[in-house]
Parts: sequence; C-alpha cells; structure tokens
Amino acid sequence: MAEVASRQLTGGCQCGATRYALAAPPLFAYCCHCANCQRITASAFAISCIVPKAALVFTKGAPARHEWTADSGTPRYGFFCPDCGVRIAHGQEGDGPSAAMYSLRGGTLDDRGYAAPVAHIWMSSAVPWFAVPQGDLTFEAQPKDYAPIAALYAARLTGVAG
Ligand SMILES: [Zn+2]
Ligand SMILES: [Zn+2]
Repeated sequence: MAEVASRQLTGGCQCGATRYALAAPPLFAYCCHCANCQRITASAFAISCIVPKAALVFTKGAPARHEWTADSGTPRYGFFCPDCGVRIAHGQEGDGPSAAMYSLRGGTLDDRGYAAPVAHIWMSSAVPWFAVPQGDLTFEAQPKDYAPIAALYAARLTGVAG
C-alpha cells in the first residue's frame, strides 16, 4: 500500500480553472456504457471512480451544477467547470450508500492509474466495436452488488492480481 499512498490524489478540468483534491483513493473504477453516459461524455462510455463525498474537496474555482433524472428515476446532479464545461463528478441527494458517494469522472484525475476500470456496466447499450479487456467484469445493466468490483479494483491497485 506504500506505493498507492504516495501517488497523487488531485485532478481538475481541461482549462485548469477547477481543481480538486481527494482525501483517499477511489474505492473502485468502472466504465458505464449506458446511453446517458455516452451523451454526457460525447463518447462511447464514462469512466466512473467512486469516492466518498467527504473525500472530494474543490481546491480551485467554484464548480457549476447540472441536474437531471436518471433512467432509474433517481434525481442526479453533476459538477462541471463553468469555464470549459468539463464534468468533474456526479452525485445524488438522499440517504443510502449511493447518496454517500460521488462518481468522479476518471479522466479528470492527474494520476489516471486510479481510473483504470475493472468492470463494465450497462453492456446492453455498449457500442458494438467495444471489446471487453481480459479479466474485467461485465454487467448487462446496473450491478446489484458492487463488492466484486471493489475487490478486483483493490487487488489490481495494490498489484496483487491482474
Ligand atoms: Zn475548466
Ligand atoms: Zn451510465
């Protein structure tokens, strides 16, 4: 874990006006291939790094906020840089485990080693040319249990496996 602890836990937007620091490494990272994420990223999938809300601190700038309703009906919001528009993190209000976490956009991390995904969710809407990397977990829709994803992420991050 010494190697992990020494790595940078900072990130920011494209233009540099919005910067953040993480008090702890992400709990896990995965790719979401849902149609909503494809539009949000203007790409084929989003890389989500799950972090406790308390661990994310904005150190520069004041992120703007956008709100929407997920396909599941859950009201969601996202922080983005008001200058360059880059999405930084998504969250939801309320109680429960999901509301305690942010989904940090993996590409905003300075050390993108933390954004290496170990799983792929909403494969039912993945682009047809995407090939799942060997050893990664796949889910047709939203996983019911994220524990296997967290376990595989921890194993890879510490170099124990894969
Ligand atoms: Zn920016
Ligand atoms: Zn998605």
